[in-house]
Amino acid sequence: APGTFVHARVAPLGDRHVLLLVEDMTQARRVEAVRRDFVANVSHELKTPVGGLGLLAEAVLDARDDPEAVTRFATRMQVESQRLSSLVKEIVDLSRLQGAEVLSTAQRVDIERVVDEALDHLRVTANARRISLADKCADELYVLGDHALLVTAIRNLVGNAIAYSDEGTRVGVGARLVGEMVEITVTDQGPGIPEHEQERIFERFYRIDAARSRATGGTGLGLAIVKHVCANHGGDISVWSEPGEGSTFTVRLPAAPETIAAHREQDQSG
Ligand code: ADP
Repeated sequence: APGTFVHARVAPLGDRHVLLLVEDMTQARRVEAVRRDFVANVSHELKTPVGGLGLLAEAVLDARDDPEAVTRFATRMQVESQRLSSLVKEIVDLSRLQGAEVLSTAQRVDIERVVDEALDHLRVTANARRISLADKCADELYVLGDHALLVTAIRNLVGNAIAYSDEGTRVGVGARLVGEMVEITVTDQGPGIPEHEQERIFERFYRIDAARSRATGGTGLGLAIVKHVCANHGGDISVWSEPGEGSTFTVRLPAAPETIAAHREQDQSG
């Protein structure tokens, strides 16, 4: 097939025969290309904060006779180094997720608890920006997977909804069973995402407005992490958005069998 990469080897086999070994290396090559790209992206992204820290250190040395300036530069160094450490954490998370096609161990995860925990982490940030956070989860929604990874995914989505929306707006989170899938939605009244950007935002390090993303402490990895978490759970993520009208991100995960059974019973009894 076009784009296929094969590797062939020939070895003599006795006097009258040769052994021809043909291997399809397409997948291995693809994995290697993704890895090389990732390393290139990472080094590019690390250069900016590391360079910034170097400049700030020089500024501290130059200003050593001016205590106020020293405090100012040192505070900025602190902010930069915090950003650097969250970037490194996200890079490690993402490279682990990229390496695993599916989860090695899956446990029963309660989606209501996942949403509660994700929102708890973000209430202070939402309050500071006067954004109201509301959630509505159906009872007894379970998936098989990793609780901590799912909290990270929902937290990234709600964190973005808060970060990119104006003060005084509303962010809503909902969860329900649709067919055999648990659907979790995160809706905001923010600026929205133009249609031609809607696929690209899930690529690692892709940002529509890099300056705005950095100003909100963004790394450009949040949605790539969400996408991988969903894939590792056998699910997916999609976005609906209309510029000026906000965005809705929808995560779909296969429901645990007991969830489907429990909801079927509820449907029959009422
Ligand atoms: P970042 O760390 O920059 O937020 P993400 O991968 O989480 O990285 O998101 C990628 C880009 O998608 C963001 O930089 C932003 O431009 C856009 N984006 C993500 N979520 C939203 C949202 N709720 N509303 C508007 N734009 C968004």
